[in-house]
Order: sequence, then C-alpha cells, then structure tokens
Amino acid sequence: MRTLKDLNAAGKRVLVRVDYNVPIKDGKVKDDTRITASLPTLQYLLEQGATLVLLSHLGRPKGGFEEASSLAPVAKVLEKHLGRPVRFIGGSPELTPASEATLEQVKSLPQGSVALLENVRFEPGEEKNDEGLARKYARLGDAFVLDAFGSAHRAHASVTGVARFLPSYAGFLMEKEVKNLKRVIDNPDKPYWVVLGGAKVSDKIGVIENLLPRVNGMLIGGAMAFTFIKTQGGQVGNSLVEDDKLELARNLLQKAQDLGVKFLLPTDVVAAQKIEPGVEKRIFPAGQIPQGWMGLDIGPETRKTFAQALQGAKTVLWNGPMGVFEIEDFAAGTLAVGQAIADLPEAFTVIGGGDSVAAANKLGVAEKFSHVSTGGGASLELLELGTLPGIEALS
Ligand code: ADP
Ligand code: MG
Repeated sequence: MRTLKDLNAAGKRVLVRVDYNVPIKDGKVKDDTRITASLPTLQYLLEQGATLVLLSHLGRPKGGFEEASSLAPVAKVLEKHLGRPVRFIGGSPELTPASEATLEQVKSLPQGSVALLENVRFEPGEEKNDEGLARKYARLGDAFVLDAFGSAHRAHASVTGVARFLPSYAGFLMEKEVKNLKRVIDNPDKPYWVVLGGAKVSDKIGVIENLLPRVNGMLIGGAMAFTFIKTQGGQVGNSLVEDDKLELARNLLQKAQDLGVKFLLPTDVVAAQKIEPGVEKRIFPAGQIPQGWMGLDIGPETRKTFAQALQGAKTVLWNGPMGVFEIEDFAAGTLAVGQAIADLPEAFTVIGGGDSVAAANKLGVAEKFSHVSTGGGASLELLELGTLPGIEALS
C-alpha cells in the first residue's frame, strides 16, 4: 500500500475517507472511538499544509437524504477533538456529498481548513460502486486517503471506486490496522494461540480455516463451541447449535488433529433456562446439558484451563466473547479469558471483532492489548482472506 509518507500534501486538497459510523442517540454521539482513531491522520495532513475534505457513511439510509442519518452531530465532536473549526457541508437534500452545490462549497474552502461532507450513503450509487459517482468524488480533491479501516472490506464508491481516479494512499489508522492484523496472519511469534467465541461457527469458519495451519492452539468458547461439542456426541440441551454445520465442525476438529494443533473446547458451562439477568444458573459438564437448559458462558473449570493454556504465549488473537457477556451473570468467562490475555507479560495481543472489542472495553481490559481493531467485519475478513478490497485499491 502507498502510505501518507508517499504523499506530498502541502497546498493540496486531500479527500479523506474516514469511518465515522458512530452510534448517535438524540443527536448526540454516544461513542467517539472512531473519531479519535482518525485524528493522527488528520493532524498530520494539516501540519503538512493540506486542506481536508472528509467523507464517511453513517447507518443505513435508503440512498437519499434522511435527517436521522446526517453526519451533522459528528462535525461538532470532531471540531472539539481537532481544536479547530470543522465546516459541515450537508444537512439538506441538495448537499449530498457528490452534488454540484457541495462541490462549489468545497472549491471555496480556505487553504488549510477542514470540511466534513454529508453521509455518502445518501448517494444511491455509493454501495453499488457506481463509476460515475466515484468520478464525482474525485473532483473533490487532488489526492485520496483511505483511513476508514472499518469500511475497507466494502467495494463501495467512496472506498475503492474513487481510488481509481486519484492518487491514493493509506492513512495511519489503515496502515496500523493492516500491519498489526497481518502480523498475526503472516509472522506471529510462537507459541501462537487464537481464542474464538461468539454466536456462530458459520461467521468464523474462514478465520479458523485460514489460521489453523499457522497456530499452536485454538481455544473455542461462546455459542459456537456447542456445534463442536454436539458433533462429538455431547448433549447440549437447548444451547445454540448450527445443525447444518455439524459435519464441517467434525472436519475442522479432524484437520486440527492432523496438523497437531491443540483445539480446546469448554469442559464445563454456566447454563440457564432463559437469557435474562438474575435467572437461576447451574454449572454442567459441557457435554451433559439437560433439555431446557442453555450453555451461556464457559464454566469455572474451563476458565482455569483456558487461562493456563495461554501461559507462555507470544502471540494471541482474540475474536468472539466466551459467553453472553452483555448480561453480568454470563460475563465471567469473557472477563477471565480477556484478563488472562491482557496479563500475558511478553505477548503481542490483538482483539478483532465488534462485540469482542465492546466486551473488552466494558470489562476494562482493552488498554492492555497490543492492538484493538476498530473494524469488526473488516478485521474478520482480513483474517480470513489476508487482504481487503480497500487494501487492493491502494496497491
Ligand atoms: P464479534 O462481533 O466479536 O465477532 P460475534 O458477533 O461473533 O462476536 O458474537 C457475539 C455475540 O455472541 C454476543 O452478542 C454474545 O451474547 C453471543 N454469545 C456468546 N456466547 C453465547 C452463548 N453461549 N449463547 C448465546 N449467545 C452467545
Ligand atoms: Mg458481532
């Protein structure tokens, strides 16, 4: 990828695709992680003497202006973080990001200023990667910087399309994400362990298949463990199982064995009859869950086994919570495993996946990781395929 160091930005108008798809409630930004994550790139470009024109998507509008999906609230938060004015060009149906009216305002921006344009998904061609739209975006700048790692798995007009019509570069966030995630694919220090959890095996098959030959061991928790436990003949009660993935799970277990990769499943679980706070909980052996009961977290014995397995690891990738961490009664497993990884003295540790990052933040262990990815779907797809449409567009 070409990076910011390859760009002479002085005096140029630089179009930057950021990922400001942040949660907004009652017109207020509820989590500004993605905004702060973009600051190093923006500050660097401003120091170089560039004028900045920012593009982002927000939510899922239907291809036209919708007040509720306007980026206006984001401009205010960005202004505060940057410590300088941010001109918001939007807020009405005429000021969609590729419109003539927007272009006129962009052309009259003072040198060295910052403008945030309206939601790219107000343009009907955005998600279709329409070439005409990409060419219109290209009129907005002299160079293009992709820093929206969280959107880099989307071949959309503002992500990959516009890169065909302007000299294009990876921003610092994009560069950092790709470097750290590539490290756990291509050259991890050993022993290397991957910890997987979350709702479905089907979401993670590609990641398991790609990483299995590269690791020393995998720890499997979350609901996805039950598909593996069932395929080995275990009783999983009413736990979440993907019955159409039983054969695949059996094949993955076989493959792990053939490769000599340790593949640890939970030996005990915390179960309940309903997914609700305060309900009765019981501990069962993982393959002996009675009808009517669901495994909702890894049990105390598994917490210990998993934490022990990780001792001495030099690289750990974590994707997917160990249980229904959103409810405190079922968060202990995720906390124990997250803490065990965070406390490893010399390991390179990475969290990928939207819910896993949310869990680590909620449980207060995120700061101790070497890298916390800002891209849920993008990080998974990179771990699965080794590249992304956004990376290809910059190469
Ligand atoms: P990520 O976003 O990190 O990739 P996933 O989306 O795959 O993670 O999975 C997260 C979800 O999995 C969480 O909402 C969590 O409640 C759920 N989950 C974890 N363990 C279980 C379980 N045993 N039963 C039901 N749901 C579970
Ligand atoms: Mg998720």
